[in-house]
Amino acid sequence: MEQQINLLAQLTVVDGQLDELHYELGDLPQVVKKLEAIMREKLAVAEVTQKLLHDLDHMRGTAHVTSQESVDREQKLSQQQFQVKNNREFDAITKEIEHLKIERAELEERVRTSGVRDENLRATLAVQEQELTEARSQLAEKEKELQELSGDQNEELRKFTGIRLRLSSHINDTIETEYERIRTFHPNAAVPLRKNSCSGCYSAIPSQRIMEMKYRRDKMYTCENCGRILFTEDVSIDLEKILAEA
Ligand SMILES: [Zn+2]
Repeated sequence: MEQQINLLAQLTVVDGQLDELHYELGDLPQVVKKLEAIMREKLAVAEVTQKLLHDLDHMRGTAHVTSQESVDREQKLSQQQFQVKNNREFDAITKEIEHLKIERAELEERVRTSGVRDENLRATLAVQEQELTEARSQLAEKEKELQELSGDQNEELRKFTGIRLRLSSHINDTIETEYERIRTFHPNAAVPLRKNSCSGCYSAIPSQRIMEMKYRRDKMYTCENCGRILFTEDVSIDLEKILAEA
């Protein structure tokens, strides 16, 4: 049993390391995903503004030609109006001319206010691009963090999983099952005594029981308060030593 307790003590240290490795990675993958979504959103918003600016530019560039075409068309219509056969045709042309005039007025208004609009759009775009740059750098930072962690992690995981496998193969099945059962409540399922107390829940262990633990090494003891497996302080749980033996 003594050796079994030793193995369990080592197993609990190795499991602690494995738990920590899984915890370290934590929500980092989700954080990266979230930042990716934010970055895409910021990119889309900036692209909309860029498109508006492009359209505005195009409108200003072609306004003169568009306006001239409209004037030409109006002149042509005015001439046609002298050759109409009836009132209905005359009214239709009048309506079309009115429509052209309204369109031209609207275009002129758009050109007139385009300077201010251009300025506003550029200011908006500057803010959006700044936000996009920030989102990109935040994403890059977390991606790098995740990559580095995953790299180190894989090596560590392999190492500790290997040690765990070796320890577990020497542990009695009944004991290991009990250990795993306790681990569903307490990640540190086997703990050493500290100052005559269970180091898992800090409750005092009767001195008679401690004496028994020291002299009857062939029995497995658990804490009556928390149920964790207990071992005496002299049992080695030195991680360096475990790693050296691996
Ligand atoms: Zn306890």
